[in-house]
Amino acid sequence: MARNIFDYVFFTEIMQGLGVTLKHMFKKPVTYKYPFEATPIFERFRGVHYMKTDEQGKPKCVGCYLCERVCPSECIHIETDAGPNGERLIRKYEIELDRCIYCGFCEEACPVDAIHMGRSYDVVRPTRDGYRVNIKFLVKKYKEYIEEGKGE
Ligand code: SF4
Ligand code: SF4
Repeated sequence: MARNIFDYVFFTEIMQGLGVTLKHMFKKPVTYKYPFEATPIFERFRGVHYMKTDEQGKPKCVGCYLCERVCPSECIHIETDAGPNGERLIRKYEIELDRCIYCGFCEEACPVDAIHMGRSYDVVRPTRDGYRVNIKFLVKKYKEYIEEGKGE
C-alpha cells in the first residue's frame, strides 16, 4: 500500500508506536517477579493434590479405586490389602504429578472426601521419578494447607 507524503514527513507510524509506549509507561506493572514474588491464585485454581485425614490423623482414603478409574491420564496408582475385619488397607497410593492434567475428576469422584486439589503449583523436581508422590506426601500437603488457613 502506497504511503502518502504526510506519513513520510511526519513519521506517523513511529509517533503512533511511541504513543502506545507512553500510554503503558505510567500503568501499574502486571508482571510478578516469580519466584521472589508470589503470584495471585484464583479461588477455583486446581493445584497439587492433598489427602485429608480423620481425627486420628489417618488418611481418609478407603481404597475404593474410583479416583484411579476416573483419571483420564491414568496417573493414579493404588494397591490395597484386606484388613483383619474385611476392610481395605492402603498399601500404595501414588500420583504421577508430571502426567496429571489437573482436571479434578479424582476429587469429584471420591465418595469420602479424601483426595483434593490444593493450591500449590511450584513442585519442581530434578528427575521424572521425583514427580511420583505417595500418600505421605499428600498428607503433608494437607497439613500445609491447614496451616495456611485454607483447610477445613
Ligand atoms: S486431576 Fe485429573 S489427571 Fe490429575 S490425578 Fe486427578 S483425575 Fe487424574
Ligand atoms: S476415590 Fe477417594 S476413597 Fe476412593 S481410592 Fe480414591 S482417594 Fe481413596
